[in-house]
Amino acid sequence: MSGNLGRHRDEHSRQAFEQAKKVLPGGVNSPVRAFKSVGLTPIYLDHGTGSRVFDIDGNQYIDYVGSWGPLIMGHAHPEVVSALQETASKGTSFGAPTLLETKMAELVAERVPSIDIVRMVNSGTEATMSAIRLARGYTGRSKIMKFEGSYHGHADSLLIKAGSGVATLGLPDSPGVPEGVAANTIAVPYNDLASVQLAFERFGDEIAGVIVEPVAGNMGVVPPLPGFLEGLREITTRYGSLLIFDEVMTGFRVHIHCAQGRYGVTPDLTCLGKVIGGGLPVGAYGGKREIMEQIAPTGPIYQAGTLSGNPLAMTAGYTTLSLLTPEIYDRLERLSARLEEGFTVNAQEAGIPCRINRVGSMVCPFFTSDEVVNYDTARSSDLELFRRYFAAMITEGINIAPSQFEGMFVSGVHTEADIEATIEAHRRALRSL
Ligand code: PLP
Repeated sequence: MSGNLGRHRDEHSRQAFEQAKKVLPGGVNSPVRAFKSVGLTPIYLDHGTGSRVFDIDGNQYIDYVGSWGPLIMGHAHPEVVSALQETASKGTSFGAPTLLETKMAELVAERVPSIDIVRMVNSGTEATMSAIRLARGYTGRSKIMKFEGSYHGHADSLLIKAGSGVATLGLPDSPGVPEGVAANTIAVPYNDLASVQLAFERFGDEIAGVIVEPVAGNMGVVPPLPGFLEGLREITTRYGSLLIFDEVMTGFRVHIHCAQGRYGVTPDLTCLGKVIGGGLPVGAYGGKREIMEQIAPTGPIYQAGTLSGNPLAMTAGYTTLSLLTPEIYDRLERLSARLEEGFTVNAQEAGIPCRINRVGSMVCPFFTSDEVVNYDTARSSDLELFRRYFAAMITEGINIAPSQFEGMFVSGVHTEADIEATIEAHRRALRSL
């Protein structure tokens, strides 16, 4: 390993960003990477290993971004890398069925309670977009319900009152989404069953499905209140709408059987991404056989992909899922609980109002003394304080997402020493604010 922990220099990143802005919109391929909301130069990463990432200026960081969730077993895990090398040597894409796809689908179906059969796609956005089309095609209804501050990717019908980068940049709903499309999306507050019930009383027989992050992870981390997911299950069943869990972030992150296994609520359809790609571009949607067989070629609802089920992506995903044993989930829980505890003590000592939400290895400190249960309460966090906190953490060598509306992801390869070093760095960061 090379480089000292902490951002000590940034000349190369600065130059790289200037160069990139000439050929990429805003210098980036995904908005939050530009660090606009925190007012800093983005960190250009060079390589990663285990829990650490290294930038092009020679700085080293303990990483809690994990490529925004996928890298639950850290960077360049030796088993993932060697499996990828072997697969790549046999060819990178065929556009024909391979044994790897079936093996991957079998593992996903075995682990995810709601999934009998599954279709692989190339991103979380594709997974949710396709699941929505399927819900509409299956029910013959047009409207969908989502929750304010949730992010389900950037498909038109889901880019309404969205979280993640849209929230980070404080953007209104995106231009380019036709009004007619937006009119078919109903957005209600997260954790608010009364609003869900009211909307169903009004539009129930027009609602094809409700899409929900079973643990919200794009307005910071917001756990479902007791009874919320159960209530959604009950209401959607009563009105003949599909319940769609968007587990792109939570899938295999919060439990070996995903959030649905953790909370014991089984949706009709599940969207996956991030972890199931092990760092390669993958998404998936699956569910009950009867519903899934409505997609082509067994059914009339069309969805396809040149690179879907790509051998490299299947290999990284399958190898990563195979590494995720019950012991790893125990470890994730233990390390993350310690992080939460350390951060809580630090905030108390520094006299800074702070609420830490955590579900498994998704951890999110909000700078507020209010309980954070939905997008409105998430926005009560002091964003100016977050900006200074982010800069201080980066200076200390702790890589977190440049946004209050994202969580930290602990991985199975963070060590106890990493966690203790992070708590110490956090203590110094808070004192410097
Ligand atoms: N759904 C959720 C819950 C997500 O967190 C994300 C991405 O952050 C997506 C969907 C979109 O996935 P992708 O960025 O792979 O298109």
